[in-house]
Parts: sequence; C-alpha cells; structure tokens
Amino acid sequence: MSTSLPRYDCDLFTIGGGSGGVRASRVSAGYGARVAIAESGRFGGTCVNVGCIPKKLFSFAAHFREDFRIAASFGWTVGEPRFDWATLVANKDREIARLNGVYERLLTNAGVAIHRGRARIVDPHTVEVEGRSITARHLLVATGSWPQVPAIPGRELAVTSNEIFALGQLPRRALVVGGGYIAVEFASIFAGLGVATTLAYRGARLLRGFDAELGERLAAEMAQNGVTIRLRANPAMIAPGLRVTFDDGATGEYDLVLFATGRKPNTAGLGLEAAGVTLDGAGAIGVDALSRSAVESIWAIGDVTNRLNLTPVATAEAMALARTLFRGEPTPVDHANVPTAIFSDPNVATVGLSEEAARAREGGLQIFKTSFRSLRDSLSASEHRTFMKLVVDAKTQRVLGAHMIGPDAGEIIQGVAIAVKMGATKPQFDATIGIHPTAAEEFVTMREPASA
Ligand code: NDP
Repeated sequence: MSTSLPRYDCDLFTIGGGSGGVRASRVSAGYGARVAIAESGRFGGTCVNVGCIPKKLFSFAAHFREDFRIAASFGWTVGEPRFDWATLVANKDREIARLNGVYERLLTNAGVAIHRGRARIVDPHTVEVEGRSITARHLLVATGSWPQVPAIPGRELAVTSNEIFALGQLPRRALVVGGGYIAVEFASIFAGLGVATTLAYRGARLLRGFDAELGERLAAEMAQNGVTIRLRANPAMIAPGLRVTFDDGATGEYDLVLFATGRKPNTAGLGLEAAGVTLDGAGAIGVDALSRSAVESIWAIGDVTNRLNLTPVATAEAMALARTLFRGEPTPVDHANVPTAIFSDPNVATVGLSEEAARAREGGLQIFKTSFRSLRDSLSASEHRTFMKLVVDAKTQRVLGAHMIGPDAGEIIQGVAIAVKMGATKPQFDATIGIHPTAAEEFVTMREPASA
C-alpha cells in the first residue's frame, strides 16, 4: 500500500488571531482540517484586547456614578464615592490576560499550530512567517482593522482606542473627536468616571447611519450626563499642551485628546496585491458572499473585508467559512437584520431599518414610538428618558426596524432581533404579552402609530 504525501503543509493557514481568525481556525480543525495560525500580538484581537471587552468593563465602572446618585432616593446613605483608575486598569488587565490564555488554549486544544510573528503572503498557497515558508491549500486573511486619525497638525499628541485602555492616569479634561460608536462610548465612560468631557463631531447629528432620532436623543441624554457636545466642530490643529483649535475658530485645552474617527482595514505589507487579491477604495479586501477574494485559494473575513465591522459578524463569517471549506457546504453569511448596540450612557441598540432607510424603499410605513421615565428613575430627580421605536411596513405589517435608547438596550434588542429576523409582524408583537414591570414590555404595547 502506498500513501501519498500531502501536497501542502496544511489545509488552512490563518493570518490574524482575533475573533474571526481564531474561530475559523478552531472550527476548521474540529472538522478535521490541518490548520496553522499566525499572530504577532496577543490572541483575541481588537475585541478582547482594545475593544469590546475592556470597553464594556470600563462602561460598567462608569455606570456606578449614576447608581450612587440614585441610591439616596431608595433610602441609602452612601459616603463620598471615590474612584481609583489604577485599580480598574489592573483588574481589567488581569481579565484580558486570562482571556488571551483562553483563546490560545482553545487553539492548541483543537490542534491548531501557532506561529508567533507577522505573516506575509508569498504566493496564493505560501506564507512566510519570521523567515519560515509554510504552504497551505487555503489562506485566510483575518487581520482586522486599525484606528485612523485625520492628518491635522499635532495629531501625534492625541491617542486612539489602541492606547486608551492603558493610560497611566485618568485625565481631568478630555476631548473626544468623532460621532460614531467609539466616540460616544468613550465620552460616556469618561463622563461617568468624573472627567470633564467634550465630544466634538464634524456633523450635525451623532451616529450617522442610525435612525435619526437615536442620534438626536443620545446627544440630549449625554448632555444631561454632563458631556459637552459640540456639533459641526472638528479639530483643525493640536498644539503642545493639548491646546486644540477647532475649524470654527474655537479653542480648548485638554489633558487628553482621543480620536475616534473610524478604522481602516489592515491590509498593508501582507503581499496581498502581489498575490492578485484586489482591494476596494477603502483598502478592504473584496470578497464574494462566501468570503472568497479575487484569488481562488485566498479568503478573508471580519473587519479586513469592511462589511459589517462587528465581532459577532466576524465569528459568523468564520463559522460559515469553515463549513464552506471543510464540510463541503458552501455557506454565505446573511448580513441583513444584524442587531447592534452602542454602550454609551444611555445604551443605544437597534435592529433592522432606520425610519430614513425604510422611507427610501417602496411602500408606506407606520411608525410607533414611546418615550418614558423608567420606574427605576421614578423616585429620583432624573430626567432621563427611555425611547423605543418600531418601523412597520404599512401593507404587510412586518416590523422592519426596532430601535431603543435606555438602560440595557442591548440586552433588550437582542431578543427583539430574533422576532425581526424571523419576519414578525406588528400584530404578532401585539399578541405577545409583556413582562411587567419592565421597560422591554413597551415593545409589545405600542398601540397607536405616532406617524405614517
Ligand atoms: P465609526 O465609523 O462608528 O465612527 C467614526 C466617526 O468619526 C464618525 O462620526 C465619522 O464622521 C468621524 N470621522 C471620520 N473621519 C473623520 C475625520 N477625518 N475627521 C473628523 N471626524 C471623522 O467608527 P469608530 O472609530 O467609532 O468605530 C469603528 C468601528 O468599530 C465601528 O464602526 C463599529 O463597526 C466598530 N465598533 C463597534 C462597537 C460596538 O459594537 N458596540 C464599539 C466600537 C466600535 P461621519 O459620520 O461624518 O463620517
């Protein structure tokens, strides 16, 4: 009996050990593929190291301010609360180190070979890591994205989300630039931790692309929390001492300037173009519905493809790819109706179409909305309002979009998203009995359309 040697060193070589790369690697290995992965930093990528996870921990820390504030209305006497940044950072670091280890163990337990270092594509079936050549039947690029900072004088004096989680000390005055996810999340965190916080956004309304009312209401809620919101204002230059001149001529002095002005795909220096992979105008790898690039043996998932830059989307793309490659089941990912939450204070969460996007389609709409003070706030002087909105197709009665601002919006919209994804109609929402007393029950008790 003769055995033929495998043609390649492995079946799949993954570049990048973030959420997408780790998931694709270990699931593929579970399907029996011989898998190797290259990572030059810590496992877990942006989400675990400088994104979702430490951000959410910081966000929990920031929320205590409000809890202490309303505690008195429930009869508690709380002494003067004091916050220690170094303790938060050290505890966060310990948890992240634990997660780095979990990710690495998941890979080794699945039999994935780990290469420490930066990988470069040499040809459609070969990568080089630290001077070593490895061949693979398939290459997967899962290198993620990196913060981008506008080219203004003094930009090097500012930080990005890459540095923010390891600051030696909490600033007294912070300027956050941008009006998207990271900007509103970090402005909220800083304000909650007692930092005098200004958010400057070049546009007229926060959260471009989301339902317009979310951006408007979030700005009002954040202002109530003490954040100075400057719309149509963008830094033009930063001078030493973090003296910022804005493009409208205004000036301000801060202890920290954070740019949260978007991210760009990590595609430089990978040898992609020489191998024949095409990039789009934003530098993202162009892929088809199965995540295949212009080169048959090279695949890409997650932020580097700039489809929907969210961790659960990257892991869904990873699972689908493993099935496509190693189970003989070509599996596209459905990017419609992906729910998302912004962990600002208050939280924002959404699934489906904004009112504006729904209006751009054919056919009439019914809009249902509600705005109320939550029961938890009813004993205090809080003016915070929870807001919910349903966008409904007038003819089919299908719920096209659900939107919320308020405590735990992310937790609530996750459940609503199942219904929206299943194509639920407004009468089906109405037929669902609420859980009383919750804020979430309002999603099934909105009876009269606010507008059509
Ligand atoms: P976003 O795309 O969400 O927001 C970028 C913001 O920066 C926008 O307000 C944009 O303005 C502004 N901006 C872009 N370029 C400039 C410029 N040259 N000068 C001034 N302002 C500029 O990106 P983020 O950096 O906040 O986050 C990156 C991505 O990471 C998110 O889009 C999201 O996909 C993901 N993420 C998800 C989170 C979650 O799920 N909770 C949390 C954090 C990040 P304009 O709108 O005018 O273009």
